[in-house]
Amino acid sequence: MLTRTTTGQSERHATLAVNVGGVIVGGGAPIVVQSMTNTDTADAEGTAQQIAALARAGSEIVRITVDRDEAAKAVPAIRERLLRMGVRVPIVGDFHYNGHTLLTDYPACAEALDKYRINPGNVGFKDKKDRQFSAIIDLALKHNKPVRIGVNWGSLDQALLTIPARAVMHEAIVQSALLSAERAEELGMSADRIVISAKVSAVQDLIAVYTLLASRCRYALHLGLTEAGMGSKGIVASSAAMGILLQAGIGDTIRYSLTPEPGGDRTLEVQAAQELLQTMGLRTFMPIVAACPGCGRTTSTVFQELARDVQTMIRERMPEWKARYPGVEGLNLAVMGCIVNGPGESKHADIGISLPGTGENPTAPVFIDGKKAMTLRGPDIAKDFKAIVEDYIEKRYGARAAE
Ligand code: SF4
Repeated sequence: MLTRTTTGQSERHATLAVNVGGVIVGGGAPIVVQSMTNTDTADAEGTAQQIAALARAGSEIVRITVDRDEAAKAVPAIRERLLRMGVRVPIVGDFHYNGHTLLTDYPACAEALDKYRINPGNVGFKDKKDRQFSAIIDLALKHNKPVRIGVNWGSLDQALLTIPARAVMHEAIVQSALLSAERAEELGMSADRIVISAKVSAVQDLIAVYTLLASRCRYALHLGLTEAGMGSKGIVASSAAMGILLQAGIGDTIRYSLTPEPGGDRTLEVQAAQELLQTMGLRTFMPIVAACPGCGRTTSTVFQELARDVQTMIRERMPEWKARYPGVEGLNLAVMGCIVNGPGESKHADIGISLPGTGENPTAPVFIDGKKAMTLRGPDIAKDFKAIVEDYIEKRYGARAAE
């Protein structure tokens, strides 16, 4: 029988705790949000800026590509720039094909990184594969860094790829990860320095692969659907796959591999990861805004604008609120479009507003801690409501800070 937590998920699958630059992954620690840059790592300034943006958005670990000499050379400079900006997020180096060479030739890069990601499908073949894999593990041991053994089905171990059927493909992916982890242990890496991932691009495959992995090992598990895609498709597919696994207690750190729109904001992948964990009741990052979807009763855009404004205000104000008001991330807000569900939903929130629907009086009752506190009217409803939210936060969480 599955044991369930108070929030409804299965108990977390027991894994070993891995310290990644001061952030604990696994061992029952809070599920870690991570992300990856898409800048050219050789561009130290651009990469440092993007890492800083991802960290400020809430990414607790950031991975960067280290693919050639220029990139490896830039890593210490990136670290320095981040320190100057006051950003201390752990940085993971993503290596394929030539990681053993780059980490050997650029010891300052090897030192500046907090973890190395190795793809066992991309470290050469046959004898060469073992030599190159061993070399990276030796370097990780020398620099005292943990590793992620990150299998990706697109670059699955060539020797295992000859097996066709789907269930067998799952087995091949799992074996690729576990055999590589065992080899790393034989080479002297302790199990609590190893994180495992086995990414595939289809939801059902991801669930099957990680369920198998969790049943067979105690390594900390990094979850993510690879090549998830753009926009809502990428978010929905990743959320479906990771949500089911997290509900089963599987997963110690998560990443959304979203394809950004041209010129799009990379921090969307951090936002999606935080929202998945928060809406599942696994972690709390920032106040939640419950908003109704709107319908034929909301004929103006006032309702959508207010919901968007409140959400934007929270994201913008959160860094300051978090520093000044401990516990503010647990605040619940409601922005509702009309009288049908508005007062009811608003009463369940810490602060809620029920806007007037079509044909209703042009007034907006505001509910605070379940009671009607005031009624807003006129052209400044949005401004007034945001001021009420600020005031409530100051009174409720500012008092706690003073305790
Ligand atoms: S609360 Fe009102 S406006 Fe919102 S979805 Fe329900 S009926 Fe429509």
